[in-house]
Amino acid sequence: MSCFGGDTNFCPECGNVLPLPGIQDTVRCPRCSFCIPVTEFSGQEIRSSVIFNPAEQSSVALEDEEDSELKGPVIDRRCSRCNKEGMVYHTRQMRSADEGQTVFFTCIHCRYQEKEDS
Ligand SMILES: [Zn+2]
Ligand SMILES: [Zn+2]
Repeated sequence: MSCFGGDTNFCPECGNVLPLPGIQDTVRCPRCSFCIPVTEFSGQEIRSSVIFNPAEQSSVALEDEEDSELKGPVIDRRCSRCNKEGMVYHTRQMRSADEGQTVFFTCIHCRYQEKEDS
């Protein structure tokens, strides 16, 4: 049945265009009365149906709100509280554009937060 493909199905006996499958479980060629089971038509579509795995979609990482300040580029800035190097750099736009950006540094060791106005 390699001749089956595309939108139109042809009779394998005479090459006539076959009607679309209806309520009967066979399709009969109107020219030569050759009968083809409907499963030959729908088989391709059944095989190509995609089976979704719902378990994979639930693996989206959940944001931990408490750690949101620790997400960002870590720079070699020394924490003024614990004196260790390594602080997360993130900026926050202030209400007014005239005030510019305020840069926040959060210590990855003790979570001490410093801010620096640019
Ligand atoms: Zn035919
Ligand atoms: Zn610290």
